Amino acid sequence: MFSWPEVVVIGTVALVFFGPKRLPEMAKSLGQGIKEFKKATQEGMQALSTDAPMPQETACPACQKAIPDAKAQFCPYCGKSLATVPASAS
Ligand SMILES: [Zn+2]
Repeated sequence: MFSWPEVVVIGTVALVFFGPKRLPEMAKSLGQGIKEFKKATQEGMQALSTDAPMPQETACPACQKAIPDAKAQFCPYCGKSLATVPASAS
């Protein structure tokens, strides 16, 4: 059902939060909580991956190199202007 690292982590967290005396009674609700937690975690991960895609880097139109500074006006590699794309780049 669970891998051992998960069991250890969950058990440790439960011990820290609720103490060993309350552990048996917490185990019941914990099982339900884990289900919800896993579901929420997966949904959270999906939301993260969809809401935060890879940041688009600005690429130099002349040399095609990625510009680390998004506000840069000139390419640090070839020195050409990033604002105006030359019609005929030879
Ligand atoms: Zn360039």
